[in-house]
Amino acid sequence: MYPVTTSLFEFFKIGPGPSSSHTIGPMKAGYDFLCSAGEITGAARIDVHLYGSLSATGKGHGTDRAVLAGLMGNPPERCPEDLLDSLMQNETIPQTVTIGNSTLQMAVSDVVFDKIQHEFPFSNTLVIRLLDVSGTIILEKEYYSVGGGFIQWKGWKPPERGEPVYEYENVAHLSRLLDIHNLGIDEIILENEKAITGKSEKEIMEQIDVLMKAMETSVERGLRTDGLLPGDLGMHRKAPTLYENGRTLSNEPDRFITQMSSYALASAEENAAGHRIVTAPTCGAAGVMPAVYYTMKHHFKTPAAALRKGFLAAATVGFLCKHNASIAGAEVGCQGEIGVATSMAAAMLVYSKHTDSMLAAHAAAIGLEHQLGLTCDPVGGYVQIPCIERNAIAAVKAYNSSLIATLEVPSYHKVPLDAVIQAMAENGRDMDSKYKETSMGGLAVSMVNC
Ligand code: SF4
Repeated sequence: MYPVTTSLFEFFKIGPGPSSSHTIGPMKAGYDFLCSAGEITGAARIDVHLYGSLSATGKGHGTDRAVLAGLMGNPPERCPEDLLDSLMQNETIPQTVTIGNSTLQMAVSDVVFDKIQHEFPFSNTLVIRLLDVSGTIILEKEYYSVGGGFIQWKGWKPPERGEPVYEYENVAHLSRLLDIHNLGIDEIILENEKAITGKSEKEIMEQIDVLMKAMETSVERGLRTDGLLPGDLGMHRKAPTLYENGRTLSNEPDRFITQMSSYALASAEENAAGHRIVTAPTCGAAGVMPAVYYTMKHHFKTPAAALRKGFLAAATVGFLCKHNASIAGAEVGCQGEIGVATSMAAAMLVYSKHTDSMLAAHAAAIGLEHQLGLTCDPVGGYVQIPCIERNAIAAVKAYNSSLIATLEVPSYHKVPLDAVIQAMAENGRDMDSKYKETSMGGLAVSMVNC
């Protein structure tokens, strides 16, 4: 068996959008370099070179400002939005970087967009160097942004981690474990998380609260922020208007759907603006779970303990999709991002309310099944069209999936979640590469041609 060993806190990451590999990873690299410098003396200049896709699309994604923000002492989970906005608006203005015992000046525009084709072992590579006054390198690190906000570097060794208590690699294994040990999904995942990370239950719950709070903040910030999103598309934010217009609707179902949609748009627009979101499972799909979470907390008044259980069930679905297929648009198209987010959100809704593992799996299966085949075709390479609205449609679809799963006769449910995940993997393998985050197919082309 090749069991799931993903940890909650490597799966869900707080950081600036719009792309975990282009913003969260590079910001982590900048911050890591700052920490690696320790008390080093004699620094006169910092050189940052971006390679591969970081060079090709890093400008539009804000990779340059993300690295600089990291070098200025900001890890992704704590970087203030105001700083990121200010760096975007003042690209040529030198910022203060205090590294080792030196105080240096560096602007966003000093970051070099280097070769797209290169010899480094990973596509998304960045090299950061510290030089003295004579131009001699006194510290150099070669970083790789390996996807999902993870970074590695030349000479990197995987950190030691514990083995999961309950080994499973698919839903069938997990179901057997649930039956044998008479446990719920949340209990299995919690025990595994403790064993893998060495954290206590209290620490894990506190970190889940931090993640849920970050989701809530992204929704609320998006709801009160209007204006144009960055980039050439001239995309106007929609969330505040939709929310306000939705509130005045007299028809209750329309009001509910509109408000839930506005929560998803709000968080997805925050992602597109390069503000802080939670990868759930990715930056592009960062509006679905927050919309559902916000609805559960503020409309249904779901208690915090139930929300945490639902969060753990959603995580389980995400782990299984990552383990047996992919959560990367570049590998399986948007079914792996928005599709998986729909599935996770559906499981969260059901498990928070019913604490029933089988029903949560049914809801997750329905949520994913009807997103199978979804391609990735972001117009102009920006995570805006169709991504932002797709989050809203997915949040409503997750809600619908939860209703079908809980209101049908359970034994009538035919399609197991394992089968849907396997279908997603196969669809992804067969999908033409122009539909996998290259902006060379679908809307990305037809929008331009029309
Ligand atoms: S269309 Fe592509 S970039 Fe946009 S959310 Fe889907 S997978 Fe992500």
